[in-house]
Amino acid sequence: MKVQYSDKVSQVWPLFTNVDIDYGKDVHLYDRLGRKFIDFTSGIGVTNTGHCHPRIVNAIKEQSEKLLHGQTTILYNSMVDQLSYSLQKILPEELNCFFFSNSGSEAVESAIKLVRHATGKPNIICFQGGYHGRSIGALSLTTAKSVYRSGYQPLMPGVFVSPHPYFKQYQGEDTEKRTKQCLDELEHLLNSQSSPSETAAMIIEPVLGEGGYVSPSKEFIKGVRELCNKHDILLIFDEIQTGFGRTGEYFAFKHFDVVPDILVVAKGIASGLPLSGIVANKKLMDKWIPGSHGGTYGPNPLSMAAAIETIKVLEEEDLINNSKQMGSYLLSGLEKFKNEYTEIVDVRGKGLMVGCEFVNENGSPGTLIAEEVRKENLSQGLILLTCGPYNQVIRWIPPLTVKKSDIDRALTIFGSALKNSLGRKNEL
Ligand code: PMP
Repeated sequence: MKVQYSDKVSQVWPLFTNVDIDYGKDVHLYDRLGRKFIDFTSGIGVTNTGHCHPRIVNAIKEQSEKLLHGQTTILYNSMVDQLSYSLQKILPEELNCFFFSNSGSEAVESAIKLVRHATGKPNIICFQGGYHGRSIGALSLTTAKSVYRSGYQPLMPGVFVSPHPYFKQYQGEDTEKRTKQCLDELEHLLNSQSSPSETAAMIIEPVLGEGGYVSPSKEFIKGVRELCNKHDILLIFDEIQTGFGRTGEYFAFKHFDVVPDILVVAKGIASGLPLSGIVANKKLMDKWIPGSHGGTYGPNPLSMAAAIETIKVLEEEDLINNSKQMGSYLLSGLEKFKNEYTEIVDVRGKGLMVGCEFVNENGSPGTLIAEEVRKENLSQGLILLTCGPYNQVIRWIPPLTVKKSDIDRALTIFGSALKNSLGRKNEL
């Protein structure tokens, strides 16, 4: 039996219309037909503590009996402080002031507004392949795929796009050379189209998410930081997808030894409830005139309760370490398939943010192959998603609670799916 959306629902992203999801438990999802799926998508980095972690469910239940809406735009609620203190424990000292909202895009909008307001400068530089959300401001900084932007022009003015060193070592590309090229292009941008006196900030995902699960070199991120310092430009890291342990560190910026001026967080912060925020130094945040920015729902008490408990669970269940360990285990399992199938050209990742890139025989992006493999996995009970500019990368983002046995099971399904779909293709 095929479950379908009714035609009363706008099908803006009808990827899994044959799975009508009912409930979730840790790394598993169950549909209304009683089928069990292994979820290696985690809501793209949302359910880092697993689906419906009992401690988080309990915290939400308790909070729901006390207060559903805190009116935090007009009333003080000490939960905001409590959450800020919990976050401060996992952040560098200089990132010590918090502003909360509901979605990732909304937090990116906050960052755009803060940098413009604080510096009085209009321009923002973003990087090719980045994804920062779909509200008009955030979308203007998003270049991961043309489908997100087409039909929505004109977007926000004052945005300039600099190249990202999306390394293609498998095509013989020299990482060092590419890093230098991209940094030179960035400097050139500052000398040509967006002068430092007009550039408020640069925004980057330390590891590209929607853009293909690509990690630039440490030298690149350090180079971006240095250029920002040299020209008095603020640096924003969008860690909406990479945050809260996804890459084997609480935040991905740890891998690069670089601290941003503004950190944007969402997704994994509250294990599934809507919460996002920006974090910056108090001196910078204080440039915002009180009351000049805000919204009705952020931060919501249920989301705050979930977030406070999420941080405890991440810490007490050692999930950041598990992300590191299980990430390496998953990578080595995928490497074996890379050696077996020429269609898999690259397997890469940090922690449990792992990508597996496909190509066609002629080296072009393996969009159809990745889609076929994804679908075959789904039919065998493993939920995976694609990413990358051509949807040529399959991403592996299980909850950070994932165990070796779950990964073994997922890899067995993946192996069988590869055999079925690539075998079928080779017979054509
Ligand atoms: N930035 C990044 C890096 C993201 O991955 C996403 C969501 N995929 C967003 C921003 C937008 O977040 P939201 O969908 O909550 O608006």
